[in-house]
Amino acid sequence: MNTEKILVTRTTMPPYEEYIEAIRPLWDSHWITNMGKYHRELEKALTGYLDVPELSLMVNGHMALEMTIQAFDFPEGAEVITTPFTFISTTHAIVRNHLQPVFCDVKESDGTIDEDRIEELITEKTVAILPVHVYGNVCNVEAIQKIADKYSLKVIYDAAHAFGVTYNGKGIGNYGDAAVFSFHATKVYNTIEGGAVAFSDHRLYDRLYNLKNFGIRGEELVVSIGANAKMNEFSAIMGLCNLKHVDDAIRGRKKRWELYAEKLSGTEGIRLFERRGETVHNYAYFPVLVKKDFRMTRDELYQCLREENIYPRKYFYPLTSDQACFKNKYKRTELDAARRLAEEILVLPLYPELEQKELKRIIDILSGNR
Ligand SMILES: *Cc1c(COP(=O)(O)O)cnc(C)c1O
Repeated sequence: MNTEKILVTRTTMPPYEEYIEAIRPLWDSHWITNMGKYHRELEKALTGYLDVPELSLMVNGHMALEMTIQAFDFPEGAEVITTPFTFISTTHAIVRNHLQPVFCDVKESDGTIDEDRIEELITEKTVAILPVHVYGNVCNVEAIQKIADKYSLKVIYDAAHAFGVTYNGKGIGNYGDAAVFSFHATKVYNTIEGGAVAFSDHRLYDRLYNLKNFGIRGEELVVSIGANAKMNEFSAIMGLCNLKHVDDAIRGRKKRWELYAEKLSGTEGIRLFERRGETVHNYAYFPVLVKKDFRMTRDELYQCLREENIYPRKYFYPLTSDQACFKNKYKRTELDAARRLAEEILVLPLYPELEQKELKRIIDILSGNR
């Protein structure tokens, strides 16, 4: 039996020598953080790669979300319509800004917020919609923007899964008032830890800059209250190195994603998410839904794979709204679809170096060939 653990993902690293060479100048300059040369270089490079008007780098995706919400200066206690079918960070970021998450159901077809259920949640306290491009599946950005315009709401996308995704020929970060990316080690593209906010209103650049750097604007000048959420130079350099290889990494993911899809799409009881047309995908994850007519339950399949040293993940179970810290505290629609997805979801291992024979082994287990 294979003894090496197959985890749900594996961090992509640039060639060792490439990174070591790239960080060498830091030993000359002794400038390893505080918006240094590489911070500026990466901000510029990613603005180009993600095809967005402007971008602000952050220490991680979560702080990027928190700072972005804070940058809009919403009144305390205001309501933000969001989805519970996400990583806990999304909901934490709202609550830690002293705002109230209001949970909207998602669509079973792709796991993104159900745009037809948003309006019924809007009250005079609603200030924003915070949807998630979950697994890189693109939300119905047109319908969401229409609702936002009608009620004068801000739209902040959690685009943590959507690095490199384009929709209708535009980078995904062009949709909404802001879009937040994560460059965590487990994501498609990493800066070890890191994140960024994309936006088009230049005033956001200054606000985010102040928020991520203590509001400091001069040796003796602090203009506003801020935190510390800057990206350091080692991370920025990791980002510059990884950026050179990210297209290859996505190609490697795509090949494996397509093999999974081809082999599993006919398997009884296994359903795949639909994806919108006009999308260039990043193949960040391979989620499957284990339906009633599959020969095992989702949890049995999870266990069965673990016994074979394969470690899929139940992203996202439980719903964030069901976690102890949020349970029964906030308004919501019925969350029937989200709950069903949470019960059925299993994310299979997917990364550029996942070996063919391992991939086949996983497929064989799911299709009952062993
Ligand atoms: C990873 C992730 C975050 C947080 O990003 P970090 O860089 O890990 O702080 C936020 N939202 C979603 C949906 C994520 O998957």
